[in-house]
Amino acid sequence: MDKCSSELSIPSAPRDFGFYNNGSYVAAGTREIFTRSSPGHGVPVTRIPKCTVEDLDLAVDSARTAFDDRRWSGLNGQARAAVLLKAAALIRERSEEIAFFETLENGKPISQARAEVGGCADMFEYASGLARSLHGDSFNNLGDGMFGIVTREPVGVVGLITPWNFPFLILCERVPYILASGCTIVAKPSEVTSATTLILAEILTDAGLPDGCMNVVTGSGSSIGQALIEHPRVDMLSFTGSTAVGRRVVEAAGRTNFKKLGLELGGKNPQIVFADADLEDAADGVAFGIGFNTGQCCVSGSRLIVERSVADEFAQMLREKFSKVVVGDPLDEKTQIGAITTDAQNTTIMSYIEKGSAEGAELICGGEQLDFGRGQYIAPTLFGNVTGDMAIAREEIFGPVLTIMPFDTIEEAIEIANDTEYGLAASVWSKNIDKALTVMRQVQAGRFWVNTTLAGGPELPLGGFKQSGWGREAGMYGVEEYTQVKSVHIEIGKRTPWIE
Ligand code: NDP
Repeated sequence: MDKCSSELSIPSAPRDFGFYNNGSYVAAGTREIFTRSSPGHGVPVTRIPKCTVEDLDLAVDSARTAFDDRRWSGLNGQARAAVLLKAAALIRERSEEIAFFETLENGKPISQARAEVGGCADMFEYASGLARSLHGDSFNNLGDGMFGIVTREPVGVVGLITPWNFPFLILCERVPYILASGCTIVAKPSEVTSATTLILAEILTDAGLPDGCMNVVTGSGSSIGQALIEHPRVDMLSFTGSTAVGRRVVEAAGRTNFKKLGLELGGKNPQIVFADADLEDAADGVAFGIGFNTGQCCVSGSRLIVERSVADEFAQMLREKFSKVVVGDPLDEKTQIGAITTDAQNTTIMSYIEKGSAEGAELICGGEQLDFGRGQYIAPTLFGNVTGDMAIAREEIFGPVLTIMPFDTIEEAIEIANDTEYGLAASVWSKNIDKALTVMRQVQAGRFWVNTTLAGGPELPLGGFKQSGWGREAGMYGVEEYTQVKSVHIEIGKRTPWIE
């Protein structure tokens, strides 16, 4: 074992996982194996099978049978809630193990991973109540001869493709709500962060989820992921990831069975700071909004739009904040910014930093890779003199890179904020309620924060406007997303005859 600067140690050997189908593991056997090395240390930590298309068919069969024979959807809400509550308790019991693998595979700080796992247990607890309160509607205003009801029914088998930036959190923003609705699941995590999805499948079986309701296929997006989005016996697909792959999901659904889609895609999220804000609080929040999860976050506040009269002062405050952020070993409890999750992402971020300088933006601080002897780390980076046509102002970088653009009027701030193809999230910082609410109303974003950022929880829905996606996850909206409505007209008494 290799000791880190904290109490935690890198495992001496990678942990082996199998293919999770119909309530238990199938050993990897002769399947090809993907070995994941921790981005913070460069050490192998997990070995994951590359599932075949035949494995995918088996997983879809399991989910299909479990849905069609009503072993889950036919239970009452109380019984489904009991399973979700038990799963929450087991997540809490195994929280240290889950957080550890999340940090090893993703590179995020262990303190953050622990907090996320606690939030995930909370998602299950909240969704358990929704399993009991999900209901339809009735129309008692159709006249004496007619009564109308609208029922909600689970959509069926849901394919669930999740990314590597929040492998467990994004999974748990979906799974308990999907299960609360009565659907069954075939999940495909990102190949580089599969461990905690497999651990969740184990937990759900231990919690009493009937076999076949949660199955996990592992392997690369381009092979097994593509096969899942094209699968004709999958009724709905929930995809979280890049806008480019989101487009492929839409095309695949159109080409195959028109499966229902939920998409949470990219973002280029504005942070609007007015001169009348509590600037100290705003600087801390803006630094958190781009530093959290190394900026590898679809809702990262990556565009700072700041009132010109305080722009220089605010840039200096941010520079100071960035200089104090603790970047380093993800297993160290003091670390605030960990490693970049993949080599490809590391290359992408560095190429945007080069592009920013080449396009004439001013590099105020950061911009370099940090050398801790192993792993891949990038210093929080701040660019001034940014214009709206620069790539760093328009494209999702998905790294700790913040651009600054000044504004003079509220109209201009709103215009800059909306000058993007995305519409995932936005924040405003102001002590003037009129300004804050005007901006909230006019900025196009599915999530909005006033004098804070990245706040969340199981109650409020998640999702985007414009090219940031379709549909909503979490909250009651998230459960309803996995249902379809049926309208029922009921005749009371005798129909008016058609033929006399
Ligand atoms: P992708 O969109 O490629 O990956 C997201 C998920 O989709 C992963 O599980 C991936 O599997 C899977 N996938 C990839 N290709 C296909 C396919 N053809 N069919 C079905 N599933 C597929 O994102 P990247 O990992 O390439 O990251 C690229 C950029 O995307 C980032 O720089 C960032 O800008 C954005 N992104 C946004 C996220 C968000 O939360 N909105 C999350 C992740 C990325 P696998 O990883 O195994 O290939």
